[in-house]
Amino acid sequence: MHADIEQILISRADLQRRVVSLAEEIQADYGPSGPEGAGEITLVPIMTGSLIFVADLIRHLPWRMQVHLISASSYGGKATVSSGEVRIEAREPAAAEALADRHVLLVDDVLDSGSTLRRLTDWVLQRGAASVRTCVLLRKQIPSAMAFPVHYVGFDIPDAFVVGYGLDYDGYYRNLPEVVTLKHEALCS
Ligand code: 5GP
Ligand code: MG
Repeated sequence: MHADIEQILISRADLQRRVVSLAEEIQADYGPSGPEGAGEITLVPIMTGSLIFVADLIRHLPWRMQVHLISASSYGGKATVSSGEVRIEAREPAAAEALADRHVLLVDDVLDSGSTLRRLTDWVLQRGAASVRTCVLLRKQIPSAMAFPVHYVGFDIPDAFVVGYGLDYDGYYRNLPEVVTLKHEALCS
């Protein structure tokens, strides 16, 4: 697995530091004097890429919260570009109903074309959420991503296909502790 790494883009230490400061940004907005003023949020992590990010993030958000997993897929298997079509699936039967009147924070691994977060924002609002905000660990420095009105961004990265810290290629590499690019050979095999 490590032999497949081309470049480490974000180190373990930088990931940990940024997760803490992102949690501070989120707390400032959702606390009693913030714009959402909610005091309680419902986190909706988009599986499976945000698995590790969200596990780290919620341990720095010390209030009552519910977490409801949702699946969205646009990259199938060995693709390294989005198919553009987004399939949505609530992971627990009650998840869709649990969002009514809640302040929802959608959490995704990476913002690329924006179609996943756009579809999911609509999906959450259709289920009667009181508000919806979006948080991504990574945002690609491409026009579609930079133009998307996301509320919280961990890191802006170059337009490359990345894996690690939850992100996969064909189901692999999620357990790498850093965000990395892969060698060309690893992407073709
Ligand atoms: P969008 O809908 O914004 O085009 O793409 C977002 C989704 O595509 C993410 O949730 C993620 O699953 C996948 N994705 C986009 N870029 C990358 C990437 O560089 N690496 C990996 N592993 N997945 C990506
Ligand atoms: Mg995803």
